[in-house]
Amino acid sequence: MTTQALTALTFGGNSWTPQFVQSIDQSLCIGCGRCFKSCGRSVLMLRCLDEEGQLIASDDEEDEEYERKVMTIAAQQHCIGCQSCLRACPKNCLSHAPLSL
Ligand code: SF4
Ligand code: SF4
Repeated sequence: MTTQALTALTFGGNSWTPQFVQSIDQSLCIGCGRCFKSCGRSVLMLRCLDEEGQLIASDDEEDEEYERKVMTIAAQQHCIGCQSCLRACPKNCLSHAPLSL
């Protein structure tokens, strides 16, 4: 069975294949927040890591000391595949892929 990628149309009627966010390489991420600011869909969220590289629970972030901040995918289901976040990232952390039908 062949799979097909989800495609859309531009305003001018040309075919366009959305590329949806899949992952963020947190070893590269410097927590600058540029991708977050570029996303109009509230998909991404800056989170804190402890000294062992584990995410600190959101509720504890204000109380616990953290080692560094990294971007995470909080609501992938809201992604429209625009790749604005990829273009904003200075470290090339974000991976995207089309949706297979
Ligand atoms: S591809 Fe677009 S909608 Fe999806 S996370 Fe990146 S900026 Fe947001
Ligand atoms: S733009 Fe890149 S380096 Fe900056 S927070 Fe987003 S993923 Fe991390």
